[in-house]
Amino acid sequence: MRLPKKVVRELAVEPGGAAGLHHRSTSHTRADWLSPTGRSTPRDLAEHDLESFKQDLASAQELLYASDRWALLLVFQALDAAGKDGTIKHVMSGVNPQGCQVFSFGRPSDAELRHDFLWRCATVLPERGRIGIFNRSYYEEVLVVRVHPELLAAQHLPDGAPAGPRLWNERYEDINAFERHLVRNGTRIVKFFLHVSEDEQRARFLARLDDPGKQWKFSPADLAERAHFAEYLQAYEDAITATSTPWAPWYVVPADHKPAMRALVGGIVVDAIDQLGLHLPAAGPDRAAELEAARRALGGASGAR
Ligand code: AMP
Ligand code: MG
Repeated sequence: MRLPKKVVRELAVEPGGAAGLHHRSTSHTRADWLSPTGRSTPRDLAEHDLESFKQDLASAQELLYASDRWALLLVFQALDAAGKDGTIKHVMSGVNPQGCQVFSFGRPSDAELRHDFLWRCATVLPERGRIGIFNRSYYEEVLVVRVHPELLAAQHLPDGAPAGPRLWNERYEDINAFERHLVRNGTRIVKFFLHVSEDEQRARFLARLDDPGKQWKFSPADLAERAHFAEYLQAYEDAITATSTPWAPWYVVPADHKPAMRALVGGIVVDAIDQLGLHLPAAGPDRAAELEAARRALGGASGAR
């Protein structure tokens, strides 16, 4: 199944345009965002569609692997409790684990801080034929670091490095150049912002506190960061506006309704692989002879299939 193009376009941030996070819904569950399946509730619809996107994703990933030309990099960014982990788990649960790698980026280590800000992500980029998933990414460098500029002190930046808006603008520029380099060399990049509302975040934190099975997910730091909700949203607005490019677009996915969010993410990933126009490696005459020889060696019927 394919996500209607209209939906893909609606969720994409037009390069050169504003992200417009304040105007974008966090709770859109309108059934008509998903394909008509005759199901009754948005939840059924979304779950049915996620299953369908997962199957298509499994085939698309196999094609990516077999054609061995492109890598796919999926970047997930969001405020706490928006559902990054669950979305990654659900959407990728149908794909062959051999073709897929997930990396999570937390606070950088001392060793990482001794390198440029793209380095730690650059060392784990997916190779051709693979899907790489970044759970957080180099974008944290213009998000958490912007909300907490005191983090810059640990970055060993050279004397005279810019501060304030110039620093963030330079980082956006560097990110855009880095991503363009990757795309030109065969890494397709798709970036997701899972857009959760402040109310829904509160409800999810409370659910974590109330459920002994989920308490491990709660960190007191989450509460401290929640106090900066508006600043994070502004940092996201500016970063997404500056870095949604024709070569590496951002998608803003409403995150208050988990099943719908997961289905939409699945559909966008399938759409991105489709756009690569991949095909299985063509078998030339030499290859046909090679296969025929192998068939004979195995005692199989000549020219089967
Ligand atoms: P979690 O995703 O819940 O494991 O949390 C990871 C934490 O690491 C978040 O609070 C991020 O903001 C933080 N983090 C990720 N990247 C950076 C970075 N480059 N600098 C500082 N903090 C970061
Ligand atoms: Mg967390």
